[in-house]
Amino acid sequence: MTTSSGYTYINWNAVGDEVITHLRNILRIDTRNPPGNEIRAARYIRDVLQQDGIASEIVGPSTDRGTIVARLKGDGSAPPLLLMSHTDVVAVEPEKWTHDPFAADIADGFVYGRGALDMKSMVTMELMTMLLLKRAGVPLKRDVIYMAAADEEVGGHEGAGWVVHNRPELIQAEYGLNEGGGGGFEINGRRYYTVSTAEKGTARFRLRTTGKPGHGSMPHEDNAIIKLATLLSKLDGKQPPVHFTDTFRGYITGIASSQPPDIARLFLAVLHDEATADAAIDALPLEDILKLELRAMARNTVAPTILKAGSQINVIPSQAEAFLDGRTLPGWTTEMYLGELQAIFGEDIDLDFIDPSIPLEADPASPLFELIKAVVEEHDPGATVVPTLLTGGTDAKHVAQLGTKVYGFAPELYIPGATDWTGVHGHDERIHIRAMQWGTRVLYDVVAQFAARAQFGTYPSRQRR
Ligand SMILES: [Zn+2]
Repeated sequence: MTTSSGYTYINWNAVGDEVITHLRNILRIDTRNPPGNEIRAARYIRDVLQQDGIASEIVGPSTDRGTIVARLKGDGSAPPLLLMSHTDVVAVEPEKWTHDPFAADIADGFVYGRGALDMKSMVTMELMTMLLLKRAGVPLKRDVIYMAAADEEVGGHEGAGWVVHNRPELIQAEYGLNEGGGGGFEINGRRYYTVSTAEKGTARFRLRTTGKPGHGSMPHEDNAIIKLATLLSKLDGKQPPVHFTDTFRGYITGIASSQPPDIARLFLAVLHDEATADAAIDALPLEDILKLELRAMARNTVAPTILKAGSQINVIPSQAEAFLDGRTLPGWTTEMYLGELQAIFGEDIDLDFIDPSIPLEADPASPLFELIKAVVEEHDPGATVVPTLLTGGTDAKHVAQLGTKVYGFAPELYIPGATDWTGVHGHDERIHIRAMQWGTRVLYDVVAQFAARAQFGTYPSRQRR
């Protein structure tokens, strides 16, 4: 595979077929969580790695919840890079699909299946990257570690969380590449790709009111349900205030950087002042769903999701409870967030946080970020790479406890009309074959250039494409 000039020749057509074959095989393995059974996917990956002489280890809390870890050794002159993913998928309603969610059918240029986007495509692209690095004999300065974890979809405690607490030495790394970014979108005819450099924390909580029990036939003023309803109504049209983070600033300025001046000005106006940011977001030439996302990226949020009170229609209950989904920005503790909640609900509330997780932010201007930017902009000329903040959570929350800077970057070519993220946790989840083949090449180039020894620093991207 090595040419006389020292550059490795990779037959990308063959790789494109191989990566789709592995994707389809992994999609056909039912790893719906619960119960997960990720061991089946782990065994498949183990066998594929083994064929190329890469040893691996399957670990986890039980025999059926397997997380697979493998490592390509570098010379130790730079700290490791972790390629992370999860093999479990969410439930399906098969009757609402046009294809069997576990058949990995190919139609109209797409592969269909639960996990096609979230995230067996990345499981496979990272696997392919390991195989290619090994086959090409790329001399590495960093170890490149592969982890396809169990259990992400229900919190990751039996997967990445388990590894972090029980076998941290297996995955200790300086940087991690994960799901959460890498997708493309278009604004006003300009293409963008995201790298998620930040992730919100969760600060879910229970809000409780108490009152006097009584007979439903004799209403009184001390009704727990009325009190709870009064409290919750304070959220009508209200959310905590805007706070800018480095990632949010990078996102907005990144978008503005490739827009014509009149549109750029509208985007930059968002960053003018936290107090007027909401009005500036309203004025953007974007679809409502994108504005909703921007507003959530710019603040801590709170959303009621569950109500519990009463059990009989003729009994006034003595207690009412609401469960609210709270999400916190990087830099915010649960205690600081509580202050914002009290500003909305009042000081005197009965509130309990449930298993909060910390928000994360990795530097949106690191060497790895710059490399990703260069590689993507080389493979899709004219596109711009922007940092983004995930409003949801991933396994990064576990891995970051080891000090790893995790970036969400599962690259996928933006194809107008074919790029479709509605399948994530929805029906007819699918990935465009060309988008994934492009992503495989981009991911390989990023990893090879970031982990290869200095004299090979620009190899193998010097090949003409
Ligand atoms: Zn996922």
